[in-house]
Amino acid sequence: MTNLGSIKTKLLSVHRYTEPEVERITPKLEEIDRIRNEKRAVILAHYYQIPPIQLIADKAGDSLTLAMAARELGPGDGLVVSSTVYFMAEMVKLLNPDKKVVIPDVAASCSIAEGMNAQTVRRIRETYNDAAIVAYINTTAEVKSEVDAVCTSANAETVIKNIKGNQVIMLPDYFFSKNIFGKLGKALQDRKCLAYRGIERGNIVLENVSNGSEEKISIEEAAKPILPDGTCMVHNKFTPIDIYEYKSRGNIDVVLAHPEVRPSIAALADVVGGTGKMIQYLRTNPQAKKILFITECDMAAPLREAFPERDFFTPCRFCDYMRKNNLDNLLNSLRNEVHEVKLDPKIEAGARRSLERMFELTDGKNPEE
Ligand code: SF4
Repeated sequence: MTNLGSIKTKLLSVHRYTEPEVERITPKLEEIDRIRNEKRAVILAHYYQIPPIQLIADKAGDSLTLAMAARELGPGDGLVVSSTVYFMAEMVKLLNPDKKVVIPDVAASCSIAEGMNAQTVRRIRETYNDAAIVAYINTTAEVKSEVDAVCTSANAETVIKNIKGNQVIMLPDYFFSKNIFGKLGKALQDRKCLAYRGIERGNIVLENVSNGSEEKISIEEAAKPILPDGTCMVHNKFTPIDIYEYKSRGNIDVVLAHPEVRPSIAALADVVGGTGKMIQYLRTNPQAKKILFITECDMAAPLREAFPERDFFTPCRFCDYMRKNNLDNLLNSLRNEVHEVKLDPKIEAGARRSLERMFELTDGKNPEE
């Protein structure tokens, strides 16, 4: 049984919930715990979920942590509730084809995932048939089925370094790709590295990161993705002013930023990386007491818990997609086993292959831990 007393204490002391708020949500947490135990269900939650969901979940983490947890589920585990956005729930299903995987709200999408589709990858492949194409994990199963490997914010550098090919193409998040290629620098050796920038005037535009030149491929209107680029609608909104404002008050020791931010923001941060890297940094730098945090607001929750004695500041921006999940639809999902994630059998094997390739290229490890 989950220790609900400890969840309530954390909500009050770490996450600053009020007592009436905690009293209001306690019956929901109790019911979630009761049904979870009855069904031997497993709840996986992303770090961008609200704190009570992260706390009641069996596992909360970033994409890679959740992928690794999903891979370890066994025959004793029943229903899997993926309290995440849809591409992550698909990933959980890909790694557990025989289990029933549900998501609280099917409308929980992602602006990065909506910025890429299979037709676009196929057009790129036609032109660059010997390139290694690496997709960020924030893509649909259909896109994953068309690429050579997948990567997450935690392991992208390792995946890119280890994948073979004289040309490497990263998609769909232009800012993320630029930040990762930029960090790798000389480790890229003489390989030609292209970052997908988006669809501009009827063309797929790729940017050669070594000299900034553009390479274009035409694409038909009907084949375009939903969104013209694949950046994160939360992270692409941060501006240098967000950092300067806090720094000008003179009370910030360190700036941590997620690699989906614009390169101009990444350049102002002391650490650019996923949650694991941020936690690692704070563990080894006890002198960093006042921390400015440039990422989705709820991501501060696991850091506040890990380092309760430090002060976290964040120019708060929430992900509307992640916020579609709440305790009510999580409970509904668990109780009524909705909404089930189903995969097209034609793409399933290919998408799983790209995910497994990621684990092979990183020896199944999380480089940030
Ligand atoms: S925070 Fe950005 S990357 Fe994450 S789900 Fe929301 S839109 Fe997608």
